[in-house]
Amino acid sequence: MNTLSQLLDTIGQHARQFPQGIACRCWGCSPLTYGELWDRSGQLARQLAGLSLPVGRPVAIWGTKGENLPVAILSCLRAGLCYLPLDSALPPLRVKQLLGLAQPSLILSCQPVGWTGEIPCLELSQWDRQEDSQAPLPHPLPDQLPAYLLYTSGSTGTPKGVLISRGNLAAFCQWALPLLFPQPGRDDVVINQAPYSFDLSVMGFFPALLAGAQVFDLPASLSEDFPGLFSALRESGATHWVSTPSFASLCLRDPSFCQALLPQLRRFFFCGETLSPILVNQLAGRFPKGVFYNSYGPTEATVAICACPVAAGHTGPLPVGRVAPHCQVYLLDGQHKPVPEGQPGEIFITGESVALGYWNDPEKTAGSFPSLWVGESRKRGYLTGDMGYFKEGQLYFLRRLDNQLKHRGYRIEPGEIQHHLLALPQVEQAVVLPPAKPQGPLRAFVVLAQGSGETPLSLKRQLASRLPDYLIPGRIILLNKIPLTFNGKIDQKKLEEMENG
Ligand code: AMP
Repeated sequence: MNTLSQLLDTIGQHARQFPQGIACRCWGCSPLTYGELWDRSGQLARQLAGLSLPVGRPVAIWGTKGENLPVAILSCLRAGLCYLPLDSALPPLRVKQLLGLAQPSLILSCQPVGWTGEIPCLELSQWDRQEDSQAPLPHPLPDQLPAYLLYTSGSTGTPKGVLISRGNLAAFCQWALPLLFPQPGRDDVVINQAPYSFDLSVMGFFPALLAGAQVFDLPASLSEDFPGLFSALRESGATHWVSTPSFASLCLRDPSFCQALLPQLRRFFFCGETLSPILVNQLAGRFPKGVFYNSYGPTEATVAICACPVAAGHTGPLPVGRVAPHCQVYLLDGQHKPVPEGQPGEIFITGESVALGYWNDPEKTAGSFPSLWVGESRKRGYLTGDMGYFKEGQLYFLRRLDNQLKHRGYRIEPGEIQHHLLALPQVEQAVVLPPAKPQGPLRAFVVLAQGSGETPLSLKRQLASRLPDYLIPGRIILLNKIPLTFNGKIDQKKLEEMENG
């Protein structure tokens, strides 16, 4: 097993062997060659090393997809620092909240902004590369160091920061590389749909660079701009596709999403939410050359821990695959004891993919990353909250044990949205429910204070000033009271009737 430092060196080898080869291209931005990526990230890494930043603290990378973001990510890793991607599309209040939680030692800004605040900021657009630092790069770096910090929705209203080590990332990359690239990848182009603040982007980014392929980044804004999206896809020359199933469904709405648009596209990788056999059938109809992979994993276990090819014509649930050799999955009952063979249970993941924990939150870390007796020994692992079962050696995802849901590919805790609704002065009660049907809107049922003049639109506007777009309910239904069942629980059935009535 190679360390992350050794893996990153292979990107340097590509830079020496084919410096003019395109490493990353974001639609609408200048392409970045392997030579440029390696040189610029080396220069920036030396500058960072010269600043003697505290190793344990993250460095926030603020920006959106473009030529600076890959440089910033690689420079942090080459300097032995942990990066925290912060999307510039986030509302300022959310950025403030995340900066407060993460306490980064520095902000690397990929876009020109006048940052004011206590945290020092280095603007990449103004960074003078003539003043190249001579500080030596620490090499090799221990795999126990943190590599990245990603925030996911938290049920109590506070996002959770998942801290991934260099060893976690190295183990994932070494498993994913031959899956994505069974042959040398120098002529390959990988569509990377996910924003860098979502760990699916790790699948579209690192294995591609390790293979010497081209990362083709799709900016998030293209989800709302079909003509732009389809121009980008047509120009990409993509051979590989890494996205959520939701994004592929969105593309399928346009009949031109087919092999004629992307003649070289062969390998599709999905992760992050349930992949339906219907979607695979539709894609197979449009992309006769396509091979489709389902994969599964939470951010807390580094992107994905199992994967398998899935064929068209399958009926019933699709497997999520065999567990990667560097991980183990145990299925547990309500007392956290392994269930008898063949039974469904909560997925408990152990092995080299399991994150260091939640940043600055020992209590949540202890609860979600316990050491449990599995078989002959006690093992530290991640309790996923996902129910699953094994059939013929393949893992299947069944359902969540809690309210967490996936919407448009994003992980959402309805409790977080409720928390923000209840924080609005005119809101007395709030309940958030998942969409009634696939692709439908998230629904919030709200009771306002008497005499309040708020409307669904005004509530949405207020939420939009503090939450990312995907956490804003598409429908807000105003009620006089929230109906309760005989046992005093929220009567979901009645709520749905009230929505339709
Ligand atoms: P995230 O941390 O955003 O990657 O979300 C992780 C959660 O997404 C998992 O705990 C599952 O609930 C769900 N998930 C991930 N991959 C799949 C899949 N292939 N099928 C069904 N659910 C999935």
